[in-house]
Amino acid sequence: AIGTVASSQANFMRVVVNSENSGSGGVELLCVVKAVLKKIKTRVLVGDDVLVGGIDWVDRRGMIENVFQRKSEILDPPVANVDHLLLLFSLEQPKIEPYMLTRFLVEAESTGIPLTLALNKAELVDEATLLEWESRLRDWGYEVVLCSVDTERGLDKLKFILRGQTSVIVGPSGVGKSSLINALRGNKNAVGATEDDNWFEPILGSKWLEEQRVGEVSARSGRGKHTTRNVSLLPLSGGGYLADTPGFSQPSLLKVSKQSLAKHFPEIRRMMKDSESGKCAFSNCLHIGEPGCLVKGDWERYTYYLQLLDEIKIREEFQ
Ligand code: GDP
Ligand code: ZN
Repeated sequence: AIGTVASSQANFMRVVVNSENSGSGGVELLCVVKAVLKKIKTRVLVGDDVLVGGIDWVDRRGMIENVFQRKSEILDPPVANVDHLLLLFSLEQPKIEPYMLTRFLVEAESTGIPLTLALNKAELVDEATLLEWESRLRDWGYEVVLCSVDTERGLDKLKFILRGQTSVIVGPSGVGKSSLINALRGNKNAVGATEDDNWFEPILGSKWLEEQRVGEVSARSGRGKHTTRNVSLLPLSGGGYLADTPGFSQPSLLKVSKQSLAKHFPEIRRMMKDSESGKCAFSNCLHIGEPGCLVKGDWERYTYYLQLLDEIKIREEFQ
C-alpha cells in the first residue's frame, strides 16, 4: 500500500494509508523502515510518501520499503512535501513589526513553497487599523488574512485555504501559532486524532517491539545520538495535513544569496514585469543605483532590501 508518514518516534513511523482494506478515511499503520533503506542513507521524514509492505491489517503493522521522490523539504521542523506555508504575525502582543515581517517573508519565499500571510489577534485593534495594514501589505504584494483565534474571525477562511494541502505554520513567538494549530485541528474521528492515539500502546510493550529496539540500539552504536525534533502531521477535517510544530523561529536567511535576494521581493518582481525589457541593464544588477537599473527607490521596503543586502554581503565575504 501507499501511505504518508504522519509522525515518527524512535525507529517507528506512523503511516496513514488508503486502500481497499483500510475502509474510508484511511488507516494508520505502525511501521519500521526496511534495513536496506537505512543502508543507502534514505532518511524517512514526516510527510514522505512511502510504499508499505508486509502489512498485518489486524495488528496494523507494516514495513516501509521505499520512499517516493520528495517535492520539497524543510528543515525547521523537518517535514517533506510541504505544499504551503502559513506565515502568522499578530497585530498586537506582539505588535507587527515591518522589518521582522520582511525577514520572515524573505525566508519563506526562499523555500519556493507557496505562502499565505495571516495577521492574528485582529480583535485587539480597530477596523481602521486593519484596513491600513491590509492596503499597506497589498502594496508590498501580499494579500493578507485577518484572523483571531479568540473571536474565531477568519478561521473558516484559513481552513478553506489549508484544505487538501500539507501546511506548516511559521512566525515569531507569541503571535498565536500554537493556539491556531489547536483551533484548526481536524475532527476527533479523523485518523490520528486523540481517540485513536493510543491504539499502538500495547504494541510498545510487545516482544516484537523489543526485537526492533535491539536493532535500533546496535545500529546506533558508534554514531551520534539522533536529536531530531518530533513533528506530527495533524489531519485536517477538510483533507490535508497541518504540522503540529511551528517553524522558522529565527529567519537566518542563510539560503539567500545577494543575487537572489531581489527575487524574494514582490515589489521588485512587479517592477521587472511592468518594464519593457523585463530586466536591468546589467545581468548581475543588485539594484543599488547601477546605470540602467529598473528598480527605483520609491517604495516602502527598499530600505529593508538594502539592509538585508548588506547583511548577506557581509556573510558571503566571511564564508
Ligand atoms: P506562539 O508562540 O506563536 O505559538 O503563540 P501561542 O499560541 O503560545 O499564543 C501566545 C499568546 O497569545 C497566548 O497567551 C494566547 O492565548 C494568545 N492568543 C492567541 N491567539 C490570540 C488572539 O486571537 N487574540 C488574543 N488577544 N490573544 C491570542
Ligand atoms: Zn537593477
